[in-house]
Amino acid sequence: MNIKKILIANRGEISLRIIRTAREMGIKTVAVYSEADRAALHVRAADEAVCLGPAPSLQSYLLADKIIAVATQLRVDAIHPGYGFLSENAAFARKVQEAGMIFVGPSPESIEIMGNKVAARQAAARYQIPMVPGTEEAITDIKLAKKKASEIGYPILIKASAGGGGKGMRIVEREEEFEPQMQRAVSEAESAFGDGSVFIEKYLTSPRHIEIQILGDQFGNYIHLFERECSIQRRHQKVIEEAPSAIITEEKRQAMGEAAIKVAKACNYYSAGTVEFIMDEHLDFYFLEMNTRLQVEHPVTEMVTGKDLVREQIHIGEGKPLSFAQEDLKVKGHAIEVRVYAEDPSNNFLPATGRLNTYRRPQGPGVRVDDGFEEGMEIPIHYDPLIGKLITYHETRQEAINRMIRAIDEFQITGVETTLGFCKFVMQHPAFREGRFDTKFIGRYFSPEHLETQFKPEELEMLAAMGVYLYEQSKPRKGVSEPMASAGSNWKNRLK
Ligand code: ADP
Ligand code: ADP
Ligand code: MG
Repeated sequence: MNIKKILIANRGEISLRIIRTAREMGIKTVAVYSEADRAALHVRAADEAVCLGPAPSLQSYLLADKIIAVATQLRVDAIHPGYGFLSENAAFARKVQEAGMIFVGPSPESIEIMGNKVAARQAAARYQIPMVPGTEEAITDIKLAKKKASEIGYPILIKASAGGGGKGMRIVEREEEFEPQMQRAVSEAESAFGDGSVFIEKYLTSPRHIEIQILGDQFGNYIHLFERECSIQRRHQKVIEEAPSAIITEEKRQAMGEAAIKVAKACNYYSAGTVEFIMDEHLDFYFLEMNTRLQVEHPVTEMVTGKDLVREQIHIGEGKPLSFAQEDLKVKGHAIEVRVYAEDPSNNFLPATGRLNTYRRPQGPGVRVDDGFEEGMEIPIHYDPLIGKLITYHETRQEAINRMIRAIDEFQITGVETTLGFCKFVMQHPAFREGRFDTKFIGRYFSPEHLETQFKPEELEMLAAMGVYLYEQSKPRKGVSEPMASAGSNWKNRLK
């Protein structure tokens, strides 16, 4: 079936992002919005727009039945859920299908399995996917859990089965802390996710977060679109992502791609999905979870593969077979994304709302901005404080980083605090530039006074060259990929 009209059950940058592809495909679009988003860009961009209700998500963007009723009334063929909100709600996906429409995403059954981290681990275990040591079942008996925790070895992580968005995790350093932390974890999980079940994982102290984008059609064909590195995180949530990863070898990429496809097969997955792994210092990788939706950071994959992931999702939803094969895909160039959040990096990245008094986007070669706001607009307090995403693309990692610094300098935002200055700090940091970092980057290197430091280009080159020198002095570890070394010598040559 060909989709002629689609409703986007979301808001902000991702709603606009989906509308754009639909337009290109000749599909009519319906936006939904809350009273706080009346003037939003996604409302203006769509062919039709319907107000769902007051600002709070529970009275607007989470009203599954109302959204389906609107779609039915407007004779919509398909609903795209974006990310967040109803995107990983199996009951919603099922209701959309029962109302005779296409849910642009995987089957309700796949969402059910992968939406529960314990069920996901069990499914992946059947395919011999390497996994972080932990419990196979949700914990019910605290004595047994404690015994298991000391077998695994501290520090351990108590995780909510239904957790997401970096929420519902507690690190336990010592046995004495186990019981109180466990009680807190259960009650938090109950109130945040309506499901108190938790499980234990070994807590890796300096991992990298590396994930694989996959696509599957409804005929059992699968491909992977390589990796994204998402190790720069605050509160276990990503702020900066890139593709490819600076440390992945071609061999490792293939192994991870194959593992990701096995995870997808384990739940008969179709549509676009992401299999997340953590990687230790030996470059060994372990399955974390699968996200059954379009990911915030999907643009970096689009830039290096030349594919439009939303277009592929729509094709798959229409019941078409994958339009390309694994052999047709190649990583070309390097892409980086920084998330521009209305948050104050000098105050623990707490959400900072307000009005965009000035808002001027960067332009020029290799720059993409996916956002949902314009000058003069308020950032509502009711939702995720993401203003938009800034993505740069270039031939090499170093060039993409330098282009990002240029684009951040061009991006003018006043009226609200944002993560832009912090992201510039990361782009300038020798450890990031050399590709030597993990999920602890912010804790290890960042403090608010760094936001004052603004390097001149020549100083930056000096710093980078110094970093490369130090790096070359220390014997490179096994598995560190060639591109890093060659990018390094480029910098040296430029100083000659
Ligand atoms: P990504 O994995 O795409 O990087 P994030 O972790 O940044 O996604 O989450 C994307 C959005 O989805 C955020 O608004 C986040 O709060 C929301 N989200 C993700 N998982 C859940 C969940 N289980 N419950 C509630 N919100 C979630
Ligand atoms: P969410 O559903 O909230 O995205 P994830 O399981 O994907 O939860 O974990 C989010 C982040 O938390 C990871 O990217 C990583 O930084 C950290 N994390 C998760 N599990 C572990 C672990 N076992 N050891 C160390 N860090 C972890
Ligand atoms: Mg995750």
